[in-house]
Amino acid sequence: YVAKRTSSTFAVYAPEDDRSSIRRLTLLGELRQAITQDQLVLHHQPTVELSTGHVLRTEALLRWKHPTHGLMPPGEFMELAEMSGVVQPLTRWVLRQSVRQVKQLSVDGQFLHVAVNVSARNLYEPDLVDWIVGLLEEERFPGERLTLEITESLLMDDPLLALGVLRRLKAFGISLSIDDFGTGYSSLSYLRDLPIDEIKIDQSFVGAMSLPGGDDTIVRSVIDLGHNLGLAVVAEGVEDWETLERLVELGCDRAQGFLLSQPLPADELAVLLESDRFRRFAHRLDLPDDW
Ligand code: C2E
Ligand code: MG
Ligand code: MG
Ligand code: MG
Repeated sequence: YVAKRTSSTFAVYAPEDDRSSIRRLTLLGELRQAITQDQLVLHHQPTVELSTGHVLRTEALLRWKHPTHGLMPPGEFMELAEMSGVVQPLTRWVLRQSVRQVKQLSVDGQFLHVAVNVSARNLYEPDLVDWIVGLLEEERFPGERLTLEITESLLMDDPLLALGVLRRLKAFGISLSIDDFGTGYSSLSYLRDLPIDEIKIDQSFVGAMSLPGGDDTIVRSVIDLGHNLGLAVVAEGVEDWETLERLVELGCDRAQGFLLSQPLPADELAVLLESDRFRRFAHRLDLPDDW
């Protein structure tokens, strides 16, 4: 925000800017305390494997139970966290809690895998990898059950720095996914060289499939690109059956979205995983019956 303001030629005084920066400062102060005051909450959204209909893993999504503003989505405070450095303790809280909550969950008798969103800012922390490895040891949680999701646009800001960190994370068995794919400007050569496992097609492209006159050109192209690079492809933001069926036809590997499940608190996710919801989806999609 500061950068945007100073880069404009004229600074026009607008009283609402003052008010909004006071609001932002207040929010930042509150955010710093949110961790210790137990105001952070995780919701979990399943990612479904489209060849089988089984839940592959769950994505941890942060919410802030603000004392007066109510349950706030990350869109209302993550940018502030990233700009101020609060993102470091925040991400570590999310990682620890995700691992702890998911340890209690299983699906079809198997341990569940968890995906955590990390900010590209986190990749600049010199001790990030050591900290994560320490966490996995303390919590006795194998790296093979952890995926880190990093937004494309942020990753591509400094792909060389990212490369070193991502390689070290991979060495511990951690999977890596590029989030919001298609919204940044990935250099295709970096995409080939980064040690990533998966790309997640941004929900705007997935949503466009079901709009009147919408089409699936981009989704189809990203699926092909991902597969040609040896990556798994996830569609995010799947909200209707037509889209899900089309994704299966297009050979998309994985899907996530309100149609399959809303993001839920861990106890509600546990109930959902015990239900026959995903088996019914698999049946309706005519997937091979291995349930
Ligand atoms: P994301 O990682 O791309 O997560 C997907 C977002 O889409 C989530 O919003 C999710 O609730 C929402 N979503 C899921 N299915 C559907 C659907 O079918 N339709 C629609 N319209 N939306 C759907 P949320 O939870 O508000 O998170 C927004 C973004 O905030 C995330 O995007 C992620 O980039 C960031 N974020 C969330 N939690 C964390 C966190 O712990 N750390 C960091 N650094 N970022 C986080
Ligand atoms: Mg994500
Ligand atoms: Mg995304
Ligand atoms: Mg996003």
